[in-house]
Amino acid sequence: MSQHSVHSPGFDPNCLFCKIAAKQIPSRAVYEDEQVYAFHDISPWAPVHFLIIPKLHIASMAQVGPEHAQLMGHIMTLAPRLATEQGCRPYPDGGFRLIANTGQDGGQEVHHLHLHVIGGPRPWAKG
Ligand code: AMP
Ligand code: ZN
Repeated sequence: MSQHSVHSPGFDPNCLFCKIAAKQIPSRAVYEDEQVYAFHDISPWAPVHFLIIPKLHIASMAQVGPEHAQLMGHIMTLAPRLATEQGCRPYPDGGFRLIANTGQDGGQEVHHLHLHVIGGPRPWAKG
């Protein structure tokens, strides 16, 4: 068997979320297509709490540029659809919270861009 694996140029072998997107580390899938993967957060704040990530390794929102406009538009337009599918109640009584922690001051722990989608009936454990 080959000692080196074939990955796309956007794959960082030291990145937790790259490994999750590549199924090298298990996760509970919410949605997947060619560009993105969505999976349940391992320590949820609320009845609905999942993350949407690009399969491409982008460290954070701070690295996003015009070349990512289509990808970021895809992530943002998936969020409401997946939120509803996962059990967030309809707007305006229901709704959800979208968070993209960025950098140390932004409270980012995993340095692969991810959009938290958090919702469901309150009270929540946090937020
Ligand atoms: P942050 O970088 O602070 O925006 O948040 C990283 C999020 O990733 C946290 O909410 C963690 O609970 C979540 N997380 C960390 N490791 C895993 C994992 N293996 N599977 C799913 N979620 C994870
Ligand atoms: Zn990554």
